[in-house]
Amino acid sequence: MHPCLSCGACCAAYRVSFYWAESRAGGGSVPDGLVEQVGPWRAAMQGTSQAAPRCAALLGTVGESVRCSIYEDRPSPCHELKASWEDGLPDDKCDRARQRHGLAPLTQQDWGRPEGPVGPVGPARRTA
Ligand code: SF4
Ligand code: SF4
Repeated sequence: MHPCLSCGACCAAYRVSFYWAESRAGGGSVPDGLVEQVGPWRAAMQGTSQAAPRCAALLGTVGESVRCSIYEDRPSPCHELKASWEDGLPDDKCDRARQRHGLAPLTQQDWGRPEGPVGPVGPARRTA
């Protein structure tokens, strides 16, 4: 199972804000009923501006079983946040969100890969 489906910590750790035009009222995809205006040009997912954030679109229990109710229509910050080691690298935002909810950081093993040194990223460099 994808590790995010038993986590959801990042949906309950940060303010999820974005350019207002990502909401449907502005021509974007994010349902207006789940969005609040937080500045002249900025909107945020409802529930993520409070002291203990939890996105209004998040269903389920953090650390057990969760689902984003607007997955296909979620805003850009949700697309951009990468789970640690999903692409072979750790992610500080993922690790810190999990820590806030008492969850250990993901490891390569969570993706079915053996633990080990991280290889070079990008094309191998040639030496003359
Ligand atoms: S819109 Fe979905 S992915 Fe984004 S913070 Fe809310 S529940 Fe999480
Ligand atoms: S904190 Fe990391 S593992 Fe948890 S849902 Fe977010 S990206 Fe996935």
